[in-house]
Amino acid sequence: MLEILQLPVLADNYIYLLHEPISGKTAVVDPAVAEPVIAALNAQGWQLDYILNTHHHHDHIGANLQLKQLTNCKIIAAEADQHRIPDIDITVNHNDQFQLGKQIIQVIATPGHTSGHIVFYCAESQALFCGDTLFSLGCGRLFEGSAEQMWQSLQRIKQLPTDTRIYCAHEYTLNNGKFALFVEPDNVDLQQRISEVKQLPAINRSTLPSTLAQEIATNPFLRTNSVSICNALKITEDNEIRVFTELRKLKDTFQA
Ligand code: ZN
Ligand code: FE
Repeated sequence: MLEILQLPVLADNYIYLLHEPISGKTAVVDPAVAEPVIAALNAQGWQLDYILNTHHHHDHIGANLQLKQLTNCKIIAAEADQHRIPDIDITVNHNDQFQLGKQIIQVIATPGHTSGHIVFYCAESQALFCGDTLFSLGCGRLFEGSAEQMWQSLQRIKQLPTDTRIYCAHEYTLNNGKFALFVEPDNVDLQQRISEVKQLPAINRSTLPSTLAQEIATNPFLRTNSVSICNALKITEDNEIRVFTELRKLKDTFQA
């Protein structure tokens, strides 16, 4: 099993440190900044072997070169992002696998937020590091992909085992919850999730990881087959991509 540390950084980003205890191998997912990563590595007595990037946005790669210089680690990122993530050592594509010590990490391409976006899935540790593709109660904005592409990407995630833990790159849950409740006010699981989130302490309020089962039950972007969401959007035809398209558009301008 991977040991997983969650480091809250910047306004609402999470960096994840992954440690495979048998081999001692360590990776960091989406290091926005270096200092908290270095501090955590030192506190644990771990040495950094790999940086895993989900996509090229600065709040996910900001500390790549500094960490590489300090630790001599290798950068693993999508081949599609080769031109815009500097100094990648190992390029990967959809369905590629690599090992972090004894644990196998699978790459799943999830274009939509960006065209090169990938997520990292570890079946044995039941963990998904999904960057800005899936958030708790929400999903990433469409900067470079179509709604249909993003919907397909989310379907890939939806097919994973439902006990998979969802490690997103941002703490957006409470805000996402307002929109989720707006489009599906009668969802009891959603109501309960939001009331649990609100009861967390205001400082270091981490709502992650969630689980895929929890997201399938509460996240509107994984519930494009929900009758009450279709009703809220006044869509009568059976067309999940259309539901997703409308949901994403509505969320882009939604004011809580
Ligand atoms: Zn992003
Ligand atoms: Fe981001």
